[in-house]
Amino acid sequence: MQQQEQQAIGALQSLDASHHLHPFTDTLQLAGRGTRIISHADGVYVWDIHGNKLLDAMAGLWCVNVGYGRDSIADAVAAQLKTLPFYNNFFQCTHEPAIRLAAKIASLAPVHMNRVFFTGSGSEANDTNLRMVRRYWDLKGKPGKKTIISRKNAYHGSTVAGASLGGMGFMHQQGDLPIPGIVHIDQPYWFAEGRELSAQDFGIKAARALEAKILELGEDKVAAFIAEPFQGAGGVIIPPDSYWDEIKRILSKYDILFILDEVISGFGRTGNWFAATTYNLTPDLITIAKGMTSGYIPMGGVIVSDRVADVLVNEGGEFAHGFTYSGHPAAAAAALENIRILEEERLVDKVREDTGPYLQARLRELCEHPLVGEVRGLGMVGAIELVADKDSGARLPADMGAGMLCREACIEVGLVMRAVGDTMIISPPLCISRAEIDELILKASQALSLTFAKIAAR
Ligand SMILES: *Cc1c(COP(=O)(O)O)cnc(C)c1O
Repeated sequence: MQQQEQQAIGALQSLDASHHLHPFTDTLQLAGRGTRIISHADGVYVWDIHGNKLLDAMAGLWCVNVGYGRDSIADAVAAQLKTLPFYNNFFQCTHEPAIRLAAKIASLAPVHMNRVFFTGSGSEANDTNLRMVRRYWDLKGKPGKKTIISRKNAYHGSTVAGASLGGMGFMHQQGDLPIPGIVHIDQPYWFAEGRELSAQDFGIKAARALEAKILELGEDKVAAFIAEPFQGAGGVIIPPDSYWDEIKRILSKYDILFILDEVISGFGRTGNWFAATTYNLTPDLITIAKGMTSGYIPMGGVIVSDRVADVLVNEGGEFAHGFTYSGHPAAAAAALENIRILEEERLVDKVREDTGPYLQARLRELCEHPLVGEVRGLGMVGAIELVADKDSGARLPADMGAGMLCREACIEVGLVMRAVGDTMIISPPLCISRAEIDELILKASQALSLTFAKIAAR
């Protein structure tokens, strides 16, 4: 690379270090290392500014479901921006993209869910959920039902309500969270926390923590239970099969609402439009964002069941909540075109019937590697647990930073995987082909070997 180009990149990196505060980042440490500047992308690949090509096994941040380089989304957004770049959905007004998108999502959602409230992100959508469930119980004449039960190590966003609903201790430590009225039960993470039991017994035990918490607080104090179908940011934690069945039993026994956070799982990732279908769940509210627009334009929302909507709409009068960009026309245009692509290319069916099972089968081959204690996944998500001892599942010493070593090794071989502690996770674009899955597995296996060598050298 030309010296001049190198200098220009260095200048950009130093501007970044001086002025740009990155999300979830140790800014001082980052300034020492320099940021990786991503310049362009196509299909399942991204390129950095130095020209390195990386297979993006994280679909950006779990969101680029249809892959990069979709001109038709860019065109739909451009056309919308030229026709009507903005108008609000307040004060008796709306516009065609928001109307069509709400109707389209209602048609894809479980049958008992027919309305959508739009937000700008997943976090805002979970803030909306918090307000909606409390409003619902107020209107039902049960204002004492306020508390929301969530789970440790859940991720529900980064706003005050989102971070409080989430169960990330390191987030709660900053800013006096959670806010009152949100409590957390144990997570269904068998590999890390339940190995003394069979996975199925542990799943039932983890689910019964919900019932115990309802009884402890009193049913008349509990507004809702919120959960991701599988925990994403927590480490692609797929509950044992017994878990959701037992949760369903508990939810049907007590009169509380159920919020399913499908920000990652929504729009096809588990091989159905929503993981509610995959797990046969009947949520009262579904949180959506990420794959809704494949990340081309920010957008989120809440899909609202008839049970909740009937009360809010028929008995509630004005619901005093909303955002300037609720149902933004350009974002709605991006979402509509994104969904059109998912349908035209039958990507959701493909994940269920073809590429999903193929990815899962190939991923499990990595179990053979001496560093790997467990591989799990479904549809287009997966996790690889790095361990010191395959049989006991004992972790490597924390100061070894095996996950970070592996993440760096991935970059060296041209692959983007994310590390959550010593759990490597993937969530590739739904359009990934079998040949690209082969490449992903080959690179992951190379990265594991590199990591193994680095650890052995210590
Ligand atoms: C990313 C995420 C959110 C937050 O969405 P933002 O758009 O980043 O606010 C909420 N819930 C889950 C499950 C997520 O993965």
